[in-house]
Amino acid sequence: RTLAELDAALVDCRACPRLVAWREQVAETRRASYADWTYWGRPVPGFGPPTASLLVIGLAPAAHGGNRTGRMFTGDRSGDVLYAALHDLGLASQPDAVSRDDGLALRGVRVTAPVHCAPPANKPTPEERDTCRSWLVQELELLRPHLRAAVILGAFGWGAALPAFEAAGWEVPRPRPAFAHGASLTLPAADGGPPLEVFGCFHVSQRNTFTGRLTPGMLRDVLGTAARAAGL
Ligand code: SF4
Repeated sequence: RTLAELDAALVDCRACPRLVAWREQVAETRRASYADWTYWGRPVPGFGPPTASLLVIGLAPAAHGGNRTGRMFTGDRSGDVLYAALHDLGLASQPDAVSRDDGLALRGVRVTAPVHCAPPANKPTPEERDTCRSWLVQELELLRPHLRAAVILGAFGWGAALPAFEAAGWEVPRPRPAFAHGASLTLPAADGGPPLEVFGCFHVSQRNTFTGRLTPGMLRDVLGTAARAAGL
């Protein structure tokens, strides 16, 4: 099937009972400052063209961000930081992401997450991570003809994505390399096709960006290196 068909199937997924309950409860109660919003309250698909050569992999949608707007990293501080950096690099048509119909378009980049539903306290369980992996594997298989590089934001995404890369046809070293900001790996394709260049970056969460652990310059450096590796 096509990526659009995969995304359409994903939004109906109800495989994780705890996350289904949470995403719907958040959508019903809302946050006072978003009282006028109709929250999405469903799985949030990846965002960006099916011909993307660079994939950015986060953690999971935020309760009042992606879970509200229905688009990855849209409507929260993490997204503000990420899309501003992509815009600086010429990979996003605008620096802000406020709603699904705000006109934002990505060039050569897709943004996704290993867990597609908002988890309580931004912490999916290992079981939820493993249940959602099949969606990431299918997304990777569909992107694979064009995909040349990936940036993984944070240790959770790193741990979730490496097995997915392997399942989608790239060779991952054993023992699996540990996450670090600035880590980079070249994953050969098992079928002799083009390799995948993988880069680790601290997550764009407020916990990292407010404290200066991840500065806009650090993020731009990793994304820029990955974009060059992806031919962008
Ligand atoms: Fe389905 Fe993934 Fe959401 Fe679980 S986290 S319900 S597997 S979309």
